[in-house]
Amino acid sequence: MSGADGKLLKVGEAIDSLCTIEITGRGVVRDLYLAARAAQDGPLCLAAARELAARVHPGDAVVIATGLPTYPWFSGEQDGPVGAATLARALVLGLAARPIVVTEAIHVEMCRAALRGAGLYARGLEQALSLPTTAAVVAFPTDPAEAAEAADRLMAQARPRAMVAIERPGANERGHYHGAKGFQLSDHCAKVDLLFERGKAAGAYTVGIGDGGNELGCALIRETVVATVPFAAVCQCPCGGSVVPAFVPDHLIIAAISNWGAYGVAAALALLLDRREVLHDREVDRRVHELCAAAEANNDGPGLLDPGTDAVPARLHGDFVELLGFMVQSGIDFGRLYKEPRYPWLAV
Ligand SMILES: [Zn+2]
Repeated sequence: MSGADGKLLKVGEAIDSLCTIEITGRGVVRDLYLAARAAQDGPLCLAAARELAARVHPGDAVVIATGLPTYPWFSGEQDGPVGAATLARALVLGLAARPIVVTEAIHVEMCRAALRGAGLYARGLEQALSLPTTAAVVAFPTDPAEAAEAADRLMAQARPRAMVAIERPGANERGHYHGAKGFQLSDHCAKVDLLFERGKAAGAYTVGIGDGGNELGCALIRETVVATVPFAAVCQCPCGGSVVPAFVPDHLIIAAISNWGAYGVAAALALLLDRREVLHDREVDRRVHELCAAAEANNDGPGLLDPGTDAVPARLHGDFVELLGFMVQSGIDFGRLYKEPRYPWLAV
């Protein structure tokens, strides 16, 4: 391992550490993260960024699936759409990718709003596949048969090289979808698992990002989820299964807040590419949260449409992004020291 590689791994570990600080006091993230590390190569955000950078070439499509219907509105929260929009920005700036955000019809407006906040045009699939700085938002069916057809169409039209699920429910071993507390959401959820199954079979790199064990991707740490997360082993709906989605991805990222996992991937990508600006900043983060909230995405907790994620106000997410950005810039600067001194006139 070269000095530069060692530094990269250390900053990658620091990115994972920051993204897994249990700011909301939920108490399950550490166990889930350690299980994810034991099951796969790490650091987790850096590993995902490396694969994305290796596989996604200019003009390639990347699916980003998000949207979690919440009680009693059956409408989504800002955890997910905000991370999707900011990751889409990072994939555009870093890799010239064509992001395709896939979500329920009811979440289309909030995802479009979030993308615009992140500085991207939000258009239909055809335009997004051909225009720069443009992402698509696709309403994916809740009906399984319609979803299967939509998955086939999207695979044929876009041929995505990667698929990332952020705070996304998925079907458990009995075919049902659940929220974090085990209530059933099956009728309200787009069946994007079918798209991820097709993508994985076609060779696309599939990643899940979650914070509680009930998100798409957590099958990689199923045993830990059912052993440590309340309501995870047996749901609170008649299906009586677990809350762990059955789809097994190529890679799983655990973060304290799912959006932070997406920020972590963007940070690791910025680090790999030596470009701080690939990770968004406080101002962009504020705008994404505000526009997303105004499009009726709630700040989970009391359910207010305040800008923020998982009951953490948007200004603290801005602080978080600035911390990540500083770590990225320091990593870039120290990485360069292995090639050339930062202040050669001071070298002795
Ligand atoms: Zn159930």
